[in-house]
Amino acid sequence: MKKEYDCVIVGAGPAGITASIYLARTQLSCLVIGKWKLGNLYKAHIVGNYPGFSNDVSGAFLIDEMIKQAKRFGAEFLEEEIIAVDKKGDNFFISTDTKKEFKSKTLILCPGRAYKMSNIKNEKELIGKGVSYCVTCDGFFFKNKKVALLGSKNLAAGEALELLTYTKDITIFTNGRNPEFSEVLMKEIQKNGIKIKKEKVVEFKMGDGGFLEYLVFENGDREKFDGAFIALGTTSALNFATRLGLELSDTNLKVDKNCKTNLDGVWAAGDCIGSNAQAVVSAGDGCSAAISVIKYIKGKNVYLDYE
Ligand SMILES: Cc1cc2nc3c(=O)[nH]c(=O)nc-3n(C[C@H](O)[C@H](O)[C@H](O)COP(=O)(O)OP(=O)(O)OC[C@H]3O[C@@H](n4cnc5c(N)ncnc54)[C@H](O)[C@@H]3O)c2cc1C
Repeated sequence: MKKEYDCVIVGAGPAGITASIYLARTQLSCLVIGKWKLGNLYKAHIVGNYPGFSNDVSGAFLIDEMIKQAKRFGAEFLEEEIIAVDKKGDNFFISTDTKKEFKSKTLILCPGRAYKMSNIKNEKELIGKGVSYCVTCDGFFFKNKKVALLGSKNLAAGEALELLTYTKDITIFTNGRNPEFSEVLMKEIQKNGIKIKKEKVVEFKMGDGGFLEYLVFENGDREKFDGAFIALGTTSALNFATRLGLELSDTNLKVDKNCKTNLDGVWAAGDCIGSNAQAVVSAGDGCSAAISVIKYIKGKNVYLDYE
């Protein structure tokens, strides 16, 4: 492993790996740093909407294949976490949790967005087995099922309305809070018969098959559900933004149409820029960022990979 790279990529999800494929194919040296098994796509048990596969595949399979593809072209991978990134002069200095240090001409930030956990008992054990965080990703698996949605803000209301495509039996649990939905969303929720309850959920009870069976409440009552979506929001790449002085738009890294941030030499791609949280969108962003980096480093305004 070298000490200096044309580009260091933060995060080994679809955005970061796709960027590395494009960079490596143009003979630029690149290192992807990230614990890919912690990425969001890696956690997806069934992915049926990533193009190129006529049957469902797992997120882990997709990531493993993407990494193999990138390595075939010479991209390097390091399964560690980045704890600091600083700019000195025209270069970036990157340190990892095992104190490895690298220098790079450019950076592509692709750290994703971790979904906020509810910390309800058995949540982790049931992810992908009844507990989910994304209706666009997993709503399909709950056609005509009885589904709970946990959250009290507009995000929860939006997810509940999106769930209507699949099922009408939806209950929002607000964990003791009054719902803070906008007037428009509240009207839609009421019009569509989505129930709102204030009970606090304290446990996801696992059934014999290892899937979610009941929601258990603070007062000891329980109710049968086929699925529970957690809509409490996401954490973001704020630490990178603060350290490097990057502009934000809401809690997303702010980029232009080529995925460039306000800081020269730094691009960002994928969920961290607030794109639609889908693997194929992140891959597309990663491609855009990489093409910009290629033009920046090679000092050319054209990029033709297929020549
Ligand atoms: C349960 C679930 C199911 C889903 N199902 C689907 C689906 O069916 N179809 C679909 O298209 N999308 C699905 N998604 C959404 C999809 O996974 C995301 O949109 C996509 O993974 C985002 O890609 P990304 O590269 O931006 O980020 P991620 O895939 O989240 O990757 C980010 C990477 O950055 C790393 N990282 C973060 N901070 C650091 C740091 N400081 N140092 C080093 N590395 C760091 C993380 O460990 C991770 O490896 C699903 C998501 C979840 C959670």
